[in-house]
Amino acid sequence: MKVPFLDLHAQYLEIKDEFDAAYARVMDSGWYILGKEVEAFEAEFASYCQVKHCIGVGNGLDALQLILRASGIGSGDEVIVPAHTYIATWLAVTYSGAKPVPVEPDEHTNNIDSSCIESAITARTRAIMPVHLYGQPADMDSINEIAVRYGLKVFEDAAQAHGAKYKGQRTGGLADAAGFSFYPGKNLGAFGDGGAVTTNDDVLAEKIRMLGNYGSRIKYHNNVKGFNSRLDELQAAMLRVKLRRLDEWNARRKRAATQYLDQFKTETDIVLPVVPSWVEPVWHLFVIKSPHRNELQKHLAEAGVGTMLHYPIPPHLQDAYAESGYRVGAFPIAEKISQNVLSLPMGPHLAKRQQQLVVNTLKEV
Ligand SMILES: *Cc1c(COP(=O)(O)O)cnc(C)c1O
Repeated sequence: MKVPFLDLHAQYLEIKDEFDAAYARVMDSGWYILGKEVEAFEAEFASYCQVKHCIGVGNGLDALQLILRASGIGSGDEVIVPAHTYIATWLAVTYSGAKPVPVEPDEHTNNIDSSCIESAITARTRAIMPVHLYGQPADMDSINEIAVRYGLKVFEDAAQAHGAKYKGQRTGGLADAAGFSFYPGKNLGAFGDGGAVTTNDDVLAEKIRMLGNYGSRIKYHNNVKGFNSRLDELQAAMLRVKLRRLDEWNARRKRAATQYLDQFKTETDIVLPVVPSWVEPVWHLFVIKSPHRNELQKHLAEAGVGTMLHYPIPPHLQDAYAESGYRVGAFPIAEKISQNVLSLPMGPHLAKRQQQLVVNTLKEV
């Protein structure tokens, strides 16, 4: 038996008829960019996230970058980001022209440590961009409270947290705006690239819509030098099918997570994810920690179990950010997390017996 890290083909097979019908509908429509499917998906996803606006864009990185640009953030500005995240969070800030200013994560939740944010704020700080990492919402009340006190914006990187809740409210509506990714492996994933911005801010929504469509509101009238970053009709149609399954598929992920937590609770060598009582994570990833994670990963691979590391090198130590001059030891908590993390198979199609093999293999070591 093989246990894939994530089985995307199984997602297709479960509701193949619906995907095939959506595909045929779009192909037959003769209309492939900015049409009825995107419009309908935007309305449905906004309603799902309990926000006023959703704007489909090309991918998650663009969603974040467009939020920053539409907010007038750029050269000379600073944006606070987690030191422990996927590099896209940082790149969005860099591409806007601003400087990403990293803040250490909380060792237990892996999310940005809100008690370290204030000391990173300078006269140039314009915004805080927390990430709901691994599908678990960040400490939003504390972050929003700091932002209000310093006059900063807060933008959620919700790329891993479709449907997750913070104190009963869904991600996407927890701050000034949020960026989502529909990369195939995300909880709500397309069959290609895609992304969206959600916000309750009418003016920001309008600016982002314009900026992502060549800076124009009316075709061939270009108000600003915009970008080409649009969700296409085919992906929107597929996402509409999957959005109807999102809660059910997230519930299956939760069952699998509960099972892992239960099975490993007596394993003193494995550090399990910590879920504060005020969040409902959607388990984009199930990440354990161990100083022996390389050995564990090797054993699992030998047993046919796929695992991954999220992430093996923090952004501040990537060659891509060599110019920022950070050395090893600059963010010790983020660095320690990157050395200890191991992501176990997780997804709506992880079968019980597959999960049992993961558990048994880990317990053997
Ligand atoms: C996936 C991801 C992104 C970027 O999304 P793309 O659609 O790949 O551009 C941004 N931030 C985080 C935390 C992500 O996991």
